Amino acid sequence: MSYQSVKLLDGIHCYLWQGFGNNCHSYLLRDLLPGDRPHVLVDPGHVVNHLGERCLDLLLDAMARDGVSPPSIGLVVNTHAHPDHCEATAFFTQEAGALAALSRAEERHRTTAGQTVYRALGLAAPEFTPFFYLEDGELQLGRAVLRVLLTPGHSPGSVCLYWPELRVLITGDVIFYGSVGRVDLPGGSLAALKESIERLAGLDVEYLLPGHSTEYGAIVRGREEVESNFHSVRWLFY
Ligand SMILES: [Zn+2]
Repeated sequence: MSYQSVKLLDGIHCYLWQGFGNNCHSYLLRDLLPGDRPHVLVDPGHVVNHLGERCLDLLLDAMARDGVSPPSIGLVVNTHAHPDHCEATAFFTQEAGALAALSRAEERHRTTAGQTVYRALGLAAPEFTPFFYLEDGELQLGRAVLRVLLTPGHSPGSVCLYWPELRVLITGDVIFYGSVGRVDLPGGSLAALKESIERLAGLDVEYLLPGHSTEYGAIVRGREEVESNFHSVRWLFY
């Protein structure tokens, strides 16, 4: 079992990657959309990572234990287009009939300079066709109104997802527990990352859900802990 499944709140299931090799955490926003595909999956991760771990199979197993089948996922939201976050998106769009979304800037990057990132990492470019582009601002997902924040720096079209009602912030690879996303890959920018993190720091957040764990942990819980996390990562910029 390489995912720890955490039911965070009624509407959110966290699948925290516990394997040996690289892969991202996935977050399931449950029962939002009308119809028979009610769930939204954020960052489905790798299919198979560099150590040969079968990340997608393990994610599907973990979701099945929570009663979630691939055809019940209506939308896959990609915080950015690095393969450890979105390689498995094609499975959900092609095999399970879900729609996919990412930002326009990230799609442009994915199909241009991003190709060098994939080659540098020794990985194939993730294949999927976005159904719509995430814009900075409100995003209505069925009964929930989320906010998309364009937060470049780690990747030029990275987005974070903020759910004001639950005070949840999904950050992808922008900010982690005690750390920030790398900026040394093509399209990365330290100045942009710094600005993006300052923008996020202004939100009222109770749960910060990052794309990866650090030595400090995965989910940052509690408003004070989130605030102190923003405060402490500022030191990384100086
Ligand atoms: Zn990344």
